Parts: sequence; structure tokens; C-alpha cells
Amino acid sequence: MSSRYERLKRLDHAYVWHPFTQMQDWMADEPCIIESGEGHYLVDINGKRYLDGVSSLWCNVHGHRKRELDEAIKAQVDKIAHSTFLGLSHPPGIELAEKLISIAPEGLKRVFYSDDGATAVEAALKIAVQYWQLDGETKRTRIASLGEAYHGDTVGSMSVGYAETFHRFHRDLLFPVLRLNPPHVFRYYEGMREADALKHAIDEAEKKLAGEKDALAALIVEPLIQGAAGMWAHPVEYLRALREICRRNRILFIADEVATGFGRTGRMFACEHAGVTPDILCVAKGITGGYLPLAATLATEEIFSAFLGEYKEFKSFFHGHTYTGNPLGCAAGLASLKVFESQKILERMQPKIEYLRERLAKKFLPLDHVTDTRQWGLMVGIELAEDKQTRRSYPVEKRIGHKVILEARRRGVIIRPLGDVVILMPPLAIGDDELKTLLDVVCESIKAVTER
Ligand code: PMP
Repeated sequence: MSSRYERLKRLDHAYVWHPFTQMQDWMADEPCIIESGEGHYLVDINGKRYLDGVSSLWCNVHGHRKRELDEAIKAQVDKIAHSTFLGLSHPPGIELAEKLISIAPEGLKRVFYSDDGATAVEAALKIAVQYWQLDGETKRTRIASLGEAYHGDTVGSMSVGYAETFHRFHRDLLFPVLRLNPPHVFRYYEGMREADALKHAIDEAEKKLAGEKDALAALIVEPLIQGAAGMWAHPVEYLRALREICRRNRILFIADEVATGFGRTGRMFACEHAGVTPDILCVAKGITGGYLPLAATLATEEIFSAFLGEYKEFKSFFHGHTYTGNPLGCAAGLASLKVFESQKILERMQPKIEYLRERLAKKFLPLDHVTDTRQWGLMVGIELAEDKQTRRSYPVEKRIGHKVILEARRRGVIIRPLGDVVILMPPLAIGDDELKTLLDVVCESIKAVTER
């Protein structure tokens, strides 16, 4: 190891507090320090290359140092790096808003920018609640969400997406939410056939949502696949049914496409698979091709127009952040959407999605300790268990998922698990050979760890 590595390691261990990280383990370990990127690879400061198997936390789309995105950001830096969107505007913010509306599900007409997935969700929840206050249905203040949902780590997004392990210390800060059980045959409807679980889940949603309809402002859903829960997929029929129940009961339908948006599921937005338009759409992560923190909350004209009025009525949406709509992020977003078109990213993904499906079934599912594989597009969860038949989990202290990712890292692939679910989320533009390498390495790593 170079002396530069040793110095940075010492400083990291002395000064940095990493997110979602047990720092006691971290400080006893050798950190992987990434210095640069090349296409779908990350390069550490010792020169070792790693395939970026989780798109740098699910956001990279076209690879690292993509010429078109680099140039767009550099051109914007030569104009201005940041100017506020509060009371002023700028070209990339305006042009990206137009572009987002042109690709979003029909009916969404306005773009409210923020910075991260969680902030896009906070804005959505506040818009929904304020909308009903302005519309005169002042009792509609509650939010409904799905069990096992994850919508971010700020207090509002934690409330709607509660996970015991992550959020138990903050329970008293959270607001109460109406929870629906999604049709997961391994969790809520154990042992049931998928069709029966779907029926039960829809019936339950119907009863609970209709039962509280006068108190509910909105239902928030991760469409088609609940990512951080461990890639829990649900069929398009469930999404369609939820949308329809909300429409009938006049409950706003919020789609959180922070993870699924920008091509991840094989369509630009996951809602498209079900032919569904939400009232509010949250996007982040892939919006800038994975380059810069930017997010957006899109709303229908009906919602937007409820906020209009004389200044003295104070109906405005009094909400925003310093870097809301940052011009560099917007320039990256515009460049990324151009690459989607010019390089036919969505079309070129389709054979990769099929290849992945076939490999999961033939190569991964037969492994002794793989109990399930779940996939929507290039979003994959591979669930490991100590006992395949009974689905008995590994004891937590064995940290099997973590061991698999360390093994993969030794072999030149970066992935990140969710407990004992191994996640694969390669950049959408990943090459065929690179995808094969990713799958081969992850498969060998699972075998090496679980058969040890
Ligand atoms: N919503 C969903 C569906 C997510 O998957 C995530 C992050 N994984 C978030 C919200 C929060 O996004 P961020 O980390 O950018 O705040």
C-alpha cells in the first residue's frame, strides 16, 4: 500500500463518519478509497479496478466520466455553478423541467426541484397535505404507505417508510401512518399462491383505504419493486388496483420512483408498465445520470393550481432548499436525457434484462443457499438463507451478505447487500461482457462464502 493510502486511511479513520456504517468495524478495517472512474469501473487509489455492480448506490446510468455529461457540466461551470431557484430562474432548470414533463407519465405538468430522494418525498407529502387544506377538505391529513417501504431517512420519509432496524431510535419523532400489506408471499402471505396473495392484498387495501378515506391525503408507493426492503417485487395488477382505489376514494397517489425512475425497470418510469399516472411523482438518483445530487417532485396541474392565489392568502408552497434546482445538476440531467435518446439506452437494455433473467434462473436459483431471486429490469435481489427449503435465515452475526460482497470485492466487483439479500444494480449502459463478468463473479462469491 502506498504512503498516500496510509495517510488517507489514517485521516478517514480519525475524522469521517460514514453513512449506514458501523464505524467500529470500519475503523478496524482497510477502507476502499475510490479515486476515479472509467466507464462502468471504479478505480481505487492503489490502482485496483472494480466493476460498479450497484451503480454507486443505484444512481449511475451511463457509466463514469461519460463524455457528454462531463462536457455539459464543464460548460455550465464556465457560466455559473449555482444560483438560487427561490425568486430567480436559470436555463438548465427551465429546460430540464420541460424535458421531465415530456417524458413523465401523461398528466404530470409541474416540476418542483429538491436535492435527494428523501427531500423529493418530503416535498410530495407536504404538497399532498397542503393541497387538501387549500381544497377545503381539511380533515385529509393522514398518509398511507406499504409495509416494508423505504422512502429515505428524513423524519417525514422515515415515517412513511418505517423499518425497525433503521428507525427504532427515532420512533417517537415519527407521525402515524396507515400501512397496507403488499402481496409478498414470503413475508405477509406465507405459503399462499401468488394469485391468492394478490387478491388478499387488494381486498385489504380496498377496505383500509376506503375505511379512512375522509382522513387520507395520499398513499405513497414504490411502484413494482420495493428496493431497500430487499427488492420485494409486486405485479402490475397490484399497482393498478392501488391507483384505482385511490382514484375512487379521492386519495392522492404518490409514486416514489427515486430508485425505479430513469430506466431502471426497463421503461423510463416503472408506472408505465402498469399504464398508471400518479398525482405526484418523486424522482432523484438517476435524474443526473448519477453525477450530482438533484431531485424533483412532479405534480398534476390540478394540484399545482390549488396553490395559486393572491400573495396575502399565503397559499404558496413555503418549502425549499439552498441548492434546490442546482444548475450543474440540471445541466447533467439534460445531458443524461439526451444520451438516453441518442444512444437508445432503453432499447439496448432489453436483451440485457432477458440475459439477466435467464442467468438468475439457471445459475443462481439452483445454488444451495439461494432461496429466491427477484428482478425488475436491471434491479435484482438474490436472497440467501441457511436452509433453502424452510427459508431459515443465517444468524445475523454471520453477516453472510457482507462476506459475499467482500469476496466479490477481492475479485474486482463492488456490490452492497441489504442484509442477506445480494443486490445487483449495474449501470444501464453496462456492456454484455461486463454484465457476464458481474454475474460470474457474484455467483462464484456466493458459492465461496456459503459453501465454505
Ligand atoms: N425512495 C426510494 C424508493 C429509495 O430507494 C431511496 C434511496 N435508496 C430514497 C427514497 C431516498 O433517496 P436518497 O438516499 O437520495 O435520500
